Amino acid sequence: MRTSKSEQCDRHTQSRVGRRGCAGRREVAIVRGVMIGSTGTAVVNGSDGGLRDVRVAIIGAGFGGLGVAIKLREAGFEDFLVLERDEALGGTWWANTYPGCACDVPAHLYSYSFQLNPNWSRMFAPQPEILEYLRRTARERGIEGHLRFRTEVHGARWDEDAQLWHVDTSRGSLNAQVLVAAAGGLVEPNYPDIPGLADFQGACFHSARWDHDHDLRGERVGVIGTGASSAQFIPEVQKLASQLTVLQRTPGWVMPRLDHPHSDTQKRLFARFPTLQRAVRTSLYYTAEGLVLGLVYDQRLLKALERIARRHLEKQVPDPEVRARLTPNFRIGCKRIIFSNDYLRSYAEPNVELVSDGIREVVGDGVITNTGRHIELDTILLGTGFQVFDPPHASGVVGRDGRTLRERWSDGGIRAYLGTAVANFPNHFMVMGPNTGLGNNSMINVIEAHAGFVVEALKTMDARGLASVEVREDVEKRYNENIQARLQHTVWSEGGCKSWYVGPDGRNHTLWPSFTDALKRRLARFDESDFVTRTRTGERVGV
Ligand SMILES: Cc1cc2nc3c(=O)[nH]c(=O)nc-3n(C[C@H](O)[C@H](O)[C@H](O)COP(=O)(O)OP(=O)(O)OC[C@H]3O[C@@H](n4cnc5c(N)ncnc54)[C@H](O)[C@@H]3O)c2cc1C
Repeated sequence: MRTSKSEQCDRHTQSRVGRRGCAGRREVAIVRGVMIGSTGTAVVNGSDGGLRDVRVAIIGAGFGGLGVAIKLREAGFEDFLVLERDEALGGTWWANTYPGCACDVPAHLYSYSFQLNPNWSRMFAPQPEILEYLRRTARERGIEGHLRFRTEVHGARWDEDAQLWHVDTSRGSLNAQVLVAAAGGLVEPNYPDIPGLADFQGACFHSARWDHDHDLRGERVGVIGTGASSAQFIPEVQKLASQLTVLQRTPGWVMPRLDHPHSDTQKRLFARFPTLQRAVRTSLYYTAEGLVLGLVYDQRLLKALERIARRHLEKQVPDPEVRARLTPNFRIGCKRIIFSNDYLRSYAEPNVELVSDGIREVVGDGVITNTGRHIELDTILLGTGFQVFDPPHASGVVGRDGRTLRERWSDGGIRAYLGTAVANFPNHFMVMGPNTGLGNNSMINVIEAHAGFVVEALKTMDARGLASVEVREDVEKRYNENIQARLQHTVWSEGGCKSWYVGPDGRNHTLWPSFTDALKRRLARFDESDFVTRTRTGERVGV
C-alpha cells in the first residue's frame, strides 16, 4: 500500500545502499534493532504467530493501533489482530530515530491517560523513552499476543454479501468484520522533487530513515528543510559536522521549550501520588487548549506569542542579517510552531551557515543555489516531512461501491465523519483520520477518543444484532461542510503561509477547527441514527 512516489524513492535509496547512498527502510531497521537492543530489552516484543479470521483487524502498531487494541481488550473484545508492516511496535517512535528526536508536547500529556508514566526523565521525553513506554504499555496491557509484525496490509475489500472485509497482507489473507486503519498520518517520508537529487554521489537520507551507520563527524553536511524534525536534529548535527549548511525555504516561528529534567524526588512524588501527575497533565492540557482561542477564534491574541518568539530569536541569534532571514512573514500558528531552546542558537555557531536563496539543483558533489552558488557537500539530510495527503492505506481499501478510498477522496476531497467513518465503507474506522489533527495539543487525545468510538460502535452492533454500520452520506456531507466553513476564518487559512495542513485543492483536510474537548465529546457516543445499519441478512435497520 505504499504510494508510487515513496516506492520510487525506496527504489532510489535501495539502489544506493552499498555505496554511500541514502539509507533504505530495511537497512535502517537493522541498525535500529541494534539500538533498541542496546536499551537492554528484546528487539521485538509481541507474538509473531499466524493470521486468522478475526472480529477486528487493526492496521498499524503505533500509538493509534495499540490504543485501539487496549481499549478493545478493556471492553472485553479479545478477537482482534494488529497488523504491522514493520519489525516492531512503535510507529512514529520506531521509525524516527534521528539524534535529538523527542516529543514536542510535554510527555505527561503525550502519553495515554490510562497509563501515566511517573518516570519520564524530562518534560519533553526523548524518542527511546517513548518507544520503551509503548513497549511496556503493550506488555502490561496484555496485547502482545495480538500483534503481527512484518505483516503489511496490501489491500482490503468489503464483501457486501458476507458483510465483512477480506484483508490481503504480505503474509496471507484474513477476514474481519471490522477494519480499523491506524496506519498513521506522518508515515511516508516526503522526498522533495529537486532536480538532480538522485545523482548526488554522497550520502543522503531522510530524517525518518536515519542511517546510524553513517558517521557525520568532520563532514560537510547540508540540511534541506527547516520543519519540526530538522529543528531537533540540526543542533545535534552541528556538534559533529565540520560545516553545516541549512538550506531554508521558509523560516518557521520558534518558541522556547519549557523543558527540564525531572529529579528523582519529582519521579517518586509522581509514582506515589498519581493524582499529582494527573493534575499536572490536566493543567498542561488546558494551557494548550488556550491556544485555540488565538488559532481559531481571534488571531489578534497570537501577537503576544509572536512577541515571545521574536525575543527568543533576538536572544539566540546575535547577527541581525541572519535574524532577519529567520523571521517569519506569516502569523504564528499558521504553520506548526517549533518549540526549541537550541535550534536557533545553532545559527550562532561558526560552522553553521543559513542559506535561503533556494536550491536550483543538486549535483554530484553538492547543491547549486538559485543565485548560482555551488556548495560542496558530503552528505544531504532531508528534513522534508511526510506525505500527509497520501494516507498509505487509501489506495488499497475498496468499499461497498467498488471504489477505493483514494478514488472516493479524489472526487470531493479527503473527508470523513468525525475523522473516522466514511460513507460507502461499512465497518471501517480510521484513527486520526481527516480533520482531527491538533495544532495545539497532544494527538493521544484524538487517538483515545477514536478508540473509544470503535468500542462504542461494536457494543451497539452487539446490542442491536447488527452486521454492519456505515455512516450516512448526508451526515458525512453536512459534517464536512461545517468543518470547512469553520476552518475558513482560522489562522491556518488566513495566516498568510503555505503549510502542509492545506492540500493541493486549497482545503485544509488536516486540522480540527475547535477545542479538543468538543471533538472528544462528539466521539464519546456512537449515535446509531448517523449510520446506515444492516443485519446479517443485509436488511436495513432503523433508517
Ligand atoms: C518526529 C515526530 C514527532 C512527533 N511528535 C509529536 C508530539 O510531540 N505530539 C503529538 O501529539 N504528535 C506528535 N507526532 C505525531 C505522531 O505521529 C502521533 O502523535 C502518533 O504517534 C501517531 O500514531 P499512529 O499510531 O496514528 O501512527 P504511527 O505512529 O505513524 O503508526 C502507524 C503504523 O502503521 C503502520 N502501517 C502503515 N501502513 C501499513 C500497512 N499498509 N500495513 C501494516 N502496517 C502499516 C506503520 O508502519 C506504523 O507503524 C510526531 C510525529 C513525528 C513524525
